[in-house]
Amino acid sequence: MKKGIVFNIQKYSLHDGPGIRTTIFLKGCPLKCLWCHNPESIRVDREISYSKNLCISCGECMKACPVDAVKLHREESILDREVCIKAGECAEVCPTNALEIVGKEMTVDEVVKEIEKDKVFYQESGGGVTFSGGEPLMQWEFVYEIAKVCKEQGIHTAIDTSGHVKWEAIDQVRKVIDLFLYDVKHLDTDRHMEMTGVSNLRILENLERLAYLKEKVYVRIPIIPGMNDEEDHLRALGKWIASMGLKEVMLLPYHKTGMDKYERIGWKYQIPDVPEPRDEEMQRMKKKFQEEGITVKIGG
Ligand code: SF4
Ligand code: SF4
Repeated sequence: MKKGIVFNIQKYSLHDGPGIRTTIFLKGCPLKCLWCHNPESIRVDREISYSKNLCISCGECMKACPVDAVKLHREESILDREVCIKAGECAEVCPTNALEIVGKEMTVDEVVKEIEKDKVFYQESGGGVTFSGGEPLMQWEFVYEIAKVCKEQGIHTAIDTSGHVKWEAIDQVRKVIDLFLYDVKHLDTDRHMEMTGVSNLRILENLERLAYLKEKVYVRIPIIPGMNDEEDHLRALGKWIASMGLKEVMLLPYHKTGMDKYERIGWKYQIPDVPEPRDEEMQRMKKKFQEEGITVKIGG
């Protein structure tokens, strides 16, 4: 039986596709978007997350760590990430969850059991399951196996993808996926590199293929002020999306809610000064896409 690394299972989600959904968050992403709200998802292997404000200085983590990576200093636990081997003993003994392991190995059956628990909500709301991340297609065989069982049970399946994966992975999972929530960040390759660390060529090509095959796709565009919200860019994006026959776009306004997660995993947030876009700006952008006959939703 296939196993995968899951870092969260979110129940009763209303933002990851139609109806009430269970969202399965999978570890690993080939991009490193400057604004990523789930930085703990990016590395494939597990992370140790530390929330300073929850620490009660009990010292249990220090005693449990096999490599002396944790020290107490001024009533605060300090994790030396250079020394840490992510064994996780510290998190297991931490009484307040100040230390947590992010990422858990699960089997297909274990994930399916979690999804099945809320079947009644999917039926009543037109919901289902959504695979997210990270980039869920980094573990596409795992996704395929779970989605296949869901399809057999009549559960709607969606996937939130960056599209930066080999076509073969998308081509396989599309057999068991009803809806692609497909992220597009920038049409220009250099700008895309600056924003995400990777080229957009494969992403754009994969989306064209999905559109050609008439798969159900909602294009999701994170709006990052000063990076991809220029009028010319949005107009070109709208025209390109419409030219492929795609009709639905979600504009996702940049927000800073994931900022504190960076500190918890020992990373530095790269764009603290970028402002969140105002409502009237989002409405102006929405119009650019509507002019191309596209239905636009602001938010996920
Ligand atoms: S075990 Fe948890 S609460 Fe106790 S010192 Fe370590 S981090 Fe703080
Ligand atoms: S693609 Fe998504 S999960 Fe990956 S780095 Fe970008 S925002 Fe984060």
